[in-house]
Amino acid sequence: MAASTDPQVVIIGCGISGISAAHRLVKAGFQRVRILEATERSGGRIKTGRLGNNITEIGASYIHGPSEENPLFCLARDYGLLDPQALTQENQAMDVDEYPPWVPNWFSSSGQRLNAEHVNPALELFHELVAETSQFKNQEETQWASVGHFIRSEARQRAAERWKDKDETTRQLLQCAISTMLKVECCANATHTMDKIDLAGFCMYKSLAGLDCTFPSGFEGLIENLMSELPTGSVTYNRPVRCVHWNNTGSGVNMVTVECDDGERITADHVIITVPLGYLKKHHSTLFCPPLPAHKLHSIQRLGFGTCNKIYVEFESPWWDADCEVIYLLWKDEEDFSDQVSDISKSWMKKMAGFTVLKPSERYSHVLCGWIAGHESEYMETLTEQEVRRSITELVCTFTGDPTITPKRILRSQWFHDPWTCGSYSHPAVGCSAQDLENMMEPLPTKGSESQTLQVLFAGEATHPCYYSTVHGAVVSGWREADRLISHYSSISPCRQPDLTL
Ligand SMILES: Cc1cc2nc3c(=O)[nH]c(=O)nc-3n(C[C@H](O)[C@H](O)[C@H](O)COP(=O)(O)OP(=O)(O)OC[C@H]3O[C@@H](n4cnc5c(N)ncnc54)[C@H](O)[C@@H]3O)c2cc1C
Repeated sequence: MAASTDPQVVIIGCGISGISAAHRLVKAGFQRVRILEATERSGGRIKTGRLGNNITEIGASYIHGPSEENPLFCLARDYGLLDPQALTQENQAMDVDEYPPWVPNWFSSSGQRLNAEHVNPALELFHELVAETSQFKNQEETQWASVGHFIRSEARQRAAERWKDKDETTRQLLQCAISTMLKVECCANATHTMDKIDLAGFCMYKSLAGLDCTFPSGFEGLIENLMSELPTGSVTYNRPVRCVHWNNTGSGVNMVTVECDDGERITADHVIITVPLGYLKKHHSTLFCPPLPAHKLHSIQRLGFGTCNKIYVEFESPWWDADCEVIYLLWKDEEDFSDQVSDISKSWMKKMAGFTVLKPSERYSHVLCGWIAGHESEYMETLTEQEVRRSITELVCTFTGDPTITPKRILRSQWFHDPWTCGSYSHPAVGCSAQDLENMMEPLPTKGSESQTLQVLFAGEATHPCYYSTVHGAVVSGWREADRLISHYSSISPCRQPDLTL
């Protein structure tokens, strides 16, 4: 079938990957690009909110690895959205490998403030073990079932040797600190437990140089800038897509039909799917007709997608040090290197590993962002805001020993119950491999099919081979799929030269 010269491209989802794809196509001269978005807003998991006068990020907060190699950093810099500090060579050159050198304050559930230096041996051991996971890169067989299994077993063994001269109380404290760090790692991976993370898969993620930075005026500023460069009316909001009918035969052109929830049917030459992996896991069977090929479906099932939520808490005044950047909570009854809570409805709060202090500290030093992952986090979503606030009040009282400290107000995210996301972000679940991410991004019909190629393309954070789970991964995936179409058309019509200046 001959491709039309001005193809109709429909993009499903107006998150950063969908916007990036549209942006690239429009810049390259494609005129019929349309985005269908289920909700009333652009940005998806980039969502800036407010707590009183404070800017908060309900979704993504950080540019991970803000340096020249990171296209998100370059975009934000070019739009003038970053603080001067983030632009310095020094900031860009910092190699933090996932762990920003934040100044911590440690509090224990017995109501004591701990000396950070006393906890350091636990942090060192934990970071050492995480660094050692790189030895499992590309290894199919190991004696360890997961990252959690490796860290737990090795930590137990090394702790017994290394800390044998310490007294029992100190040893227990250090073990509890390892549990705290495991819970922090659950947040980074949006997983219920590190026992669900594949050891070889964990090494697929590539960190970039640069100390993580935020958008002082909110992440959504990036979305606004990109959207302002798309033609007016490019996006149809409140238009959930119910089914993508691909591999249509007989009609000659517009091989794909997109069926919306309201019954509208839109024909297209190409459809770029950017819905989250959580949504795909839940709705793949109704979203595609005919169904997805088995290998693609299995990859959707094998890759992980879990929950990490934030609970912003505003106080009258800080109860932490002026230079503190992160508060770690050490739950004293958890010696056994655990990252799961047994009685979730009663003790979900025990999954809270800590808070980050909102920056810049001079403006927001009275606002904290609490982090909680896993099923405990999903349970938290079912509670009323008042109930969550009560639990946070109790928690702060328990850890500071001061019953007079009460939050002024709170704001929490609820990503698991968001019907268009169904969780927070993807992770390499036990059993998955690089091939699964390859399968995720493979267009339909797959190679070798006789039908028109590039009917359905796939972008979104969970389709990037090494930057999955991030905003920069989502941006690059959108560009990748746009480029696939641009080079397809420039090969069949050489006068259409893609503008690849972005
Ligand atoms: C709490 C949290 C913290 C995070 N922190 C960071 C961070 O600090 N740094 C970082 O780099 N990343 C972070 N991330 C991850 C980052 O937000 C995502 O990787 C990225 O925004 C994903 O973009 P996307 O375009 O792939 O998906 P999305 O932004 O989810 O966009 C998909 C869009 O598809 C729409 N959609 C779904 N179903 C349909 C349908 N049937 N029809 C039409 N539209 C549909 C959705 O409404 C949504 O707008 C965080 C995420 C969360 C949840």
